[in-house]
Amino acid sequence: MRAAVIGAGLAGAAAARALAHAGLEPALFDKGRGPGGRLSTRRAETPQGMARIDHGAQFVTAETAAFQALLDEAHGAGAARMWDARLVSIDRTGGMQPLRAKPRWIGLPGMNALVRTALDGMDVRFGARATHLSGGPGGWLVHFEDARVEGPFERVALTVPPEQLIDLLARSDHDFSGLIAEARDAQMGPCWTVMGVHDGPFDPGFDGAQLTGGAIRWMARMNARSGYDGPECWVLQASTGWSQAFLEAEPEKVAGALGEEAFVRFGLPAPVWRRAHRWRYALVEAAPGTPAALDASGTLGAGGDWRLGPRAELAWTSGLALGDALSG
Ligand SMILES: Cc1cc2nc3c(=O)[nH]c(=O)nc-3n(C[C@H](O)[C@H](O)[C@H](O)COP(=O)(O)OP(=O)(O)OC[C@H]3O[C@@H](n4cnc5c(N)ncnc54)[C@H](O)[C@@H]3O)c2cc1C
Repeated sequence: MRAAVIGAGLAGAAAARALAHAGLEPALFDKGRGPGGRLSTRRAETPQGMARIDHGAQFVTAETAAFQALLDEAHGAGAARMWDARLVSIDRTGGMQPLRAKPRWIGLPGMNALVRTALDGMDVRFGARATHLSGGPGGWLVHFEDARVEGPFERVALTVPPEQLIDLLARSDHDFSGLIAEARDAQMGPCWTVMGVHDGPFDPGFDGAQLTGGAIRWMARMNARSGYDGPECWVLQASTGWSQAFLEAEPEKVAGALGEEAFVRFGLPAPVWRRAHRWRYALVEAAPGTPAALDASGTLGAGGDWRLGPRAELAWTSGLALGDALSG
């Protein structure tokens, strides 16, 4: 039986693995140019040389054996390691505490390596934006932006974020009202991320910090990550509230505002290169709370972190559950 998996982030990779494990033949389709989804790594040519920047998820943690197994697999393949860095929380008065000690993992050479590992050996097509579905149980067809049609597929796993899911289902010629209603109830908050490359070392005494009391909620030094061999590089991520308030602001203004705050609080010098990236749908704020949902026929379903909460591991949990449910 053939299965289509739309979205090749962590949840899609997990769903494909579960489907393959049950003997189905999954094909994955993703609109992006390469693996990662929100576990994203950007290569940027800057005046100081090539920088490799993790501008989405900063690290992952594992509470389940299933996700730990993926991290162990990635570790074995040289694609992950524990992040042994100076991680702190800093309050509005500048009070600094070490972050609670627990294993935090990063991808090597970047976060997207975790997804690349999870997709190893899979049939994945990038640059494939699904627009809608036709056909029906037993023979689903997937339509793409470039007018291509793939299928028929006996099973379809949709692991795109809720807004894209609603869009895709609402254009499809079938009654998906149950799945759409659940996706409407989920809420995702935005995150403005500023990447800056500097012309010399900057060491404020930490490598990654959770912040309260300002616009920035997280800042991290890319060159404190194993295997990073580029120039001095910092990532600043704004809080959901601030990102929402300045959602439509000019990227340069956002970069200026967050850079100014990091300068005032920690003395971060002005970068020689900087970019702001707006994650419109970054972190889950309200989730249905069940790992996966199927349509009435049980042959098509939806999953992703948005079903459980704002952590990469939950995307994996959801994807595995979706793949299992579709294999039954
Ligand atoms: C700024 C930021 C910081 C974060 N920090 C952390 C952190 O520190 N720790 C942590 O555990 N988690 C963190 N997260 C959350 C973590 O990244 C997500 O939980 C996880 O990556 C979600 O995986 P997913 O597979 O559900 O979704 P995604 O990774 O979003 O994958 C969905 C995929 O669907 C594709 N897609 C969308 N629409 C279509 C379409 N129509 N056709 C084809 N493909 C489509 C997208 O290209 C994407 O690849 C962070 C996220 C962000 C954005």
